[in-house]
Amino acid sequence: MRLARLELRGFRNLVDDTLEFPPEGVAVVGPNAQGKSNLLEAIHYLELLRSFRGVSDRDLVRFGEDVFRLEGRVVAEEVDAPFEGGLRDRSVAAAWQRTGSRKKVTLDGVEVDRLGDGVGHVGAVLFTPADLALVDDGPHVRRRYLDIVLSLSEPGYLASLQRYRQVLSQRNAALKAGGHPSQAGAWDGLLVDAGSRVTLLRSRWVQAMSGVLSLIHQEISGGTGARMTLESGIAGVEGGELDEEGVREVFRTALAGSQEREARLGTTTVGPHRDELLLLLEPGEGARDVRRFGSGGQRRSVALSLRLLEAETIRRRKGREPLLLMDDVFAELDEARSIRLLELLDRTAVGQVILTAPRKAEIRFRDEGIERWGIREGKLLR
Ligand code: ATP
Ligand code: MG
Repeated sequence: MRLARLELRGFRNLVDDTLEFPPEGVAVVGPNAQGKSNLLEAIHYLELLRSFRGVSDRDLVRFGEDVFRLEGRVVAEEVDAPFEGGLRDRSVAAAWQRTGSRKKVTLDGVEVDRLGDGVGHVGAVLFTPADLALVDDGPHVRRRYLDIVLSLSEPGYLASLQRYRQVLSQRNAALKAGGHPSQAGAWDGLLVDAGSRVTLLRSRWVQAMSGVLSLIHQEISGGTGARMTLESGIAGVEGGELDEEGVREVFRTALAGSQEREARLGTTTVGPHRDELLLLLEPGEGARDVRRFGSGGQRRSVALSLRLLEAETIRRRKGREPLLLMDDVFAELDEARSIRLLELLDRTAVGQVILTAPRKAEIRFRDEGIERWGIREGKLLR
């Protein structure tokens, strides 16, 4: 997949412009605070329809303005599976307006019915130094990682997740209001349906891809593998031999068993909103849970491996080479790890790459192979 063109209007500090990207990609080099991360944020916005920095849409509109609009033209190359309808070319646009806080997303000019239908059409994977939080922060960041990967690769996942969240918040409101347990229980059927689907898709992906994560991590670290397992928020789901009806059954039983506790706490205590993705270093380095025992470098390699795994998932599930967005990633790695990462990328990542760095010495990937643009006060100099 390749981003051929990007139209920028009113986004952050970026000057309104239409950028034509070379097929192999571009390296954007410029001092701090010029707009490098903003450019990658704009491209990635077209993939996820929200900011990778976790800020709200209103923060993305240029200061003092009311609207931003982004439009990308995405091309499926020869090696890529074509888009729906056999097309090789697609336009994805997203606009947000302060008045009424309205977001509009179109695919080839046609507004999507649900925002979820507009997600995942660029095929981009973003690497940033902030990815370290994937390992270091609490379980919610790893659930968010799972949600992103699965929303991008598994049809129907996002819809189930949204339904689950909606039912969960209604059920929690009923529990908090402290009525008869049957009032909260009225939501159980819907909660179990949506939650079991989410649980099943998460645990299948984790099981299928844990070995791939290990291989990727071995390559980057120069030896040690890293595995992942899903510690389900529904006790009894682990082991992973269950089908969807099996998960439902376990979920129903767990809910029934926690009625008293939930009434006391005023919140739902079992379900995928309590999942944890455990990241484990394989035997050989002593440590187990990377979050608790990993060194700085090990935690960083695992975080990077998770992004490479996201790219590999897109490759496998969609049959398309992902567009790699790399925000100043080499600055953070030691020499040996950088070199191994470069070798891995050289072998596996054959598509377009858009990367940024404050100094050109830090552009290590495809240094000679791609065009270099400057950036000053939000203006791309090419
Ligand atoms: P660094 O090398 O430090 O990471 P960068 O080039 O990646 O720098 P960006 O994060 O892209 O810098 O931010 C560039 C500038 O954009 C910042 O100075 C910030 O104040 C400005 N900025 C952020 N949001 C907005 C906005 N909504 N409107 C206008 N300017 C903004
Ligand atoms: Mg930056």
